[in-house]
Amino acid sequence: MRIASVHTHVLEAALSQPFAYSRAWYGTRMAMLVEIETDTGLTGWGECYGPAWMTEAVVRNVAPWLVGQDPLRTEHLWQDIYARLRDHGQKGLVIEGLSGIDIALWDIKGKHFGAPVHQLMGGPLRTEVRAYATGLYRRESGDPLQYLPEEAAGYVAEGFHAVKLKVGFGVAEDVAVTRAVREAIGPEVALMVDANHAYDAVAAIRLGRLIEPLDIGWFEEPVPPEDLAGYRAVKAALDIPIAGGECEFTRLGFRDLLATQALDIVQPDTCAAGGLSECKKIADMSAAFGVRYNPHVWGTGIGIAASLQLLAVVPTHTPTSLNPLEPILEFDRTEHPIRQAILRQPIEHDRGTVRIPDGPGLGIEIDREALARFKVN
Ligand code: CA
Repeated sequence: MRIASVHTHVLEAALSQPFAYSRAWYGTRMAMLVEIETDTGLTGWGECYGPAWMTEAVVRNVAPWLVGQDPLRTEHLWQDIYARLRDHGQKGLVIEGLSGIDIALWDIKGKHFGAPVHQLMGGPLRTEVRAYATGLYRRESGDPLQYLPEEAAGYVAEGFHAVKLKVGFGVAEDVAVTRAVREAIGPEVALMVDANHAYDAVAAIRLGRLIEPLDIGWFEEPVPPEDLAGYRAVKAALDIPIAGGECEFTRLGFRDLLATQALDIVQPDTCAAGGLSECKKIADMSAAFGVRYNPHVWGTGIGIAASLQLLAVVPTHTPTSLNPLEPILEFDRTEHPIRQAILRQPIEHDRGTVRIPDGPGLGIEIDREALARFKVN
């Protein structure tokens, strides 16, 4: 079996209502999908996290190196692409492009052997995962002290055991909305906060101390990803677990986060940090360092399916026992017209729990009509 062609698909959809996190407004959602065809007729799908037009350029330029190669040699192809671009692409867009390629190759591998990816990565440690609701973004109008608690209560009513709130809008405002959301969801539901690296260590510690009494599950990206000393300072100052890693890449990047004990929870994005091949290695490294692994997930159903395949084989956070702490799925609840539309069978939750697809490959089928509807290139 040989790779016959590599196609990129840039998709875009307008949102009915823009929403914001600490650094930008979203008016549309975009996606960059990778489709790899083999000479035996198998097709694999992957997704790249990151600016769609830029990751598209990476994959389009890497594509000629893949044509004619054996798609089952996922490790060889990963290392070959990485080595060819090492001098210019150890992090960022190149690795995001490589991630989508690697996921598509694993999808082919699974289809070739008639098994889900997680079966080929060691077999499932679990068949379903609990999901937490990612939402609670800012809107153009209305009072966040009113609409955020209402939205959070809605997730609890749907059955979610945990919700994540966007912070990074100023310490005083963050404290007020965090308190309002905690009051709305009650003491039993986990509440995490995510600053999207809006703060420096001084401000992050100040915020953390003020919200510590509200029982915060984790404080995500308190400081910029390059500021490992800042991460360590925040981690040392607070009792709240510190999370991050959606802007870090490959086992080599995570080696530094882990070895310097910068974080309590790492969050590599499977569609950015190096794909399924690399994220399995990062997950095993994290377990060796006693650091929890909960993937960052922010994409279409392809990215969600890839994350679920990996989550099936991520070790438990606490050592095996009668009641181990399991990794959880980030389940994006914001508007994304493309997310489920491109799947023949949407990946949904049932009272906050998501089943891991067990069909061949990623376990999903692509709706090509929906794909064509959103395609801008
Ligand atoms: Ca985040």
